[in-house]
Amino acid sequence: MSNRDEFSQSTKNRVAARAGWQCSFEGCTRGTHGPSAESPEAVSNIGVAAHICAAAPGPGARRYDKTMSREERSGIGNAIWLCANHAKLIDRDEVTYTAARLRAMKAAREKASEEEQRSGKGASLFAIGPDIVCTGELAQVTSGSWTLHLKHFVAGDRHALVGFVSGFASRAAEDRYILSNELGDGRVLSGAPALAMQGGNCMVTCPVAPPVPRIDAQKLGSDFALHPETNDLYVENGSIAWVSGVDYLPQKIRALLSMQRGENVFAEMAGVRFYEYFEAFKGTFWLPQILMLDVIRQAAIPVGGGILTAPWMTPLQCVTRVRGVELLSGSPENNRLPLRVDLDVQGVGRWQRDLEIYMPTRDQMEEGARRLAETRPTIAEFGHYSTSSETR
Ligand SMILES: [Zn+2]
Repeated sequence: MSNRDEFSQSTKNRVAARAGWQCSFEGCTRGTHGPSAESPEAVSNIGVAAHICAAAPGPGARRYDKTMSREERSGIGNAIWLCANHAKLIDRDEVTYTAARLRAMKAAREKASEEEQRSGKGASLFAIGPDIVCTGELAQVTSGSWTLHLKHFVAGDRHALVGFVSGFASRAAEDRYILSNELGDGRVLSGAPALAMQGGNCMVTCPVAPPVPRIDAQKLGSDFALHPETNDLYVENGSIAWVSGVDYLPQKIRALLSMQRGENVFAEMAGVRFYEYFEAFKGTFWLPQILMLDVIRQAAIPVGGGILTAPWMTPLQCVTRVRGVELLSGSPENNRLPLRVDLDVQGVGRWQRDLEIYMPTRDQMEEGARRLAETRPTIAEFGHYSTSSETR
């Protein structure tokens, strides 16, 4: 067992993303990701998440600080994203490259990458299945396929992408999708994405199914479906009891965006991943973009198999395009998170609204998971739910 306080893969991804995948060393700005000569689908990474204060004491350890906790030493606050050359340089000379100087370089790089993002220089964002979020450019959109130039990974890495392609056949139907925040739309994948190198770009070609039909907002069901306190959906006659008409649209959207994935024992694939994304991306400029991708998933990708929705129907079944999702507060307060959504709604047109959605705290999420684990066998006895292998 190593005694070094190493960074997790998630920390490395986030420190790289925050630096805009460029070396943070003053005056360097070298891009740290690019196509690899190693194989057609490979992306090379010459970036390193370097320790500002060394991961462990000992000979050659630089800027080791014994007053730091292990969590602090392996936390994102102690990481700086550098090219391989500069990662070596700062570990040769701790007199010149003090912790304070490295922190200043890191802050300057993050500020610059945030400005690039704001000014629109940042590329648009895609999700390919549940584990990969990347920046890139749409190269071609046809009725049968979406092709993009992949630039950088925000979540996941090239191994995750290659794994998604090779394991595609065994993925749950709900996990086979591509989402684009530039299009405000997504598609179910009709086959595994194909990866190829072309003109120095990593190209991802995704075979896509036709868009899932949406319904007019006026034709949303007629039953009141919201529990006033828990925001849980009522289930009636084996499907969501939809509220009626356009007037109830805000309530319905609020309910859908308030249910975290995994919370509902009747449909574990249903729900948003807002809590998870807040944990991973809070305080970064990626957070609203990633929440937007998750809203697109609710609008464009069906959730079937459970009894919550009819098969092959999307949760936000009247939303045809997600134009924007804006956070109106940096973090939830008293379980409330204010959001501004900008949508195209079938039968209505453009629809903008400020909504307060429900966000659980960490304790509530953990308590919910415990309760869910206890409920599973009970529900199985009534024959409404087939248990997954780990519960029996
Ligand atoms: Zn560098």
